[in-house]
Amino acid sequence: MKDAPARIDTDHSVIVDVEGTRSIRQAEVGSVRTMLDRIKVQHGIDPERLIADSAYGSGPMLGWLVGRDIKPHIPVLDKAGRTDGTWSRTDFEWDPENNQYICPEGEPLKQFRRNYSDPNRKPTGKGVAKYQALKHTCQACPSKMKCCPKADARKITREEHEDARQVARDIAKTKQYVISMRLRKKVEMLFAHLKRILRLGRLRLRCPCGANDEFLLAATAQNLRKLAKIFPAPQQSRKA
Ligand code: SF4
Repeated sequence: MKDAPARIDTDHSVIVDVEGTRSIRQAEVGSVRTMLDRIKVQHGIDPERLIADSAYGSGPMLGWLVGRDIKPHIPVLDKAGRTDGTWSRTDFEWDPENNQYICPEGEPLKQFRRNYSDPNRKPTGKGVAKYQALKHTCQACPSKMKCCPKADARKITREEHEDARQVARDIAKTKQYVISMRLRKKVEMLFAHLKRILRLGRLRLRCPCGANDEFLLAATAQNLRKLAKIFPAPQQSRKA
């Protein structure tokens, strides 16, 4: 199976780059990085925001975009939500200055409760960090049943790219994000056209290079169609 992630100029629905990949999320996400690097070199385009669906909303992808100063207009992939009605991580407030979460009852959840003199034992900011409330505080808490009914104390994990995920969550509350999601629908129409009218739902060439060529030709045809609409040919006057 092959897929064709593409970068599209949403102002004119023109495809600015396309990259054939295997139809798995990691490959598709990797191709976005390749295309962003390529369109910067080839077209001098450095987008200020990237609009995409939740397949691109993983922590590492968001971290990469935010690190490159590109605003992620992407729904965050978040598996921290709970289905049993107890409080999820979003109910806890992050306190970056003290490297701790504050629970709805105002108690801190810390990663470390000691002051390490050895700097190698301090938080590295890499990987997943675990934060925990004090056992005796949770045991006496009136909200324990809403928070951690089956555990002695509440624990929360924080991913390495949580700051970038928060940037994406904050963007998702803006009016610009609503506009971006409307623009994304426009892009989906474009893909529907590629699949149905240009018959790209099924590839004729099988190898990765062949698939890439097919995607490239289809994108070129689509762009020519679009450009013909934007710049219609001058009417030829008929000779009498
Ligand atoms: S159970 Fe513990 S972490 Fe949860 S609200 Fe109460 S004190 Fe806070």
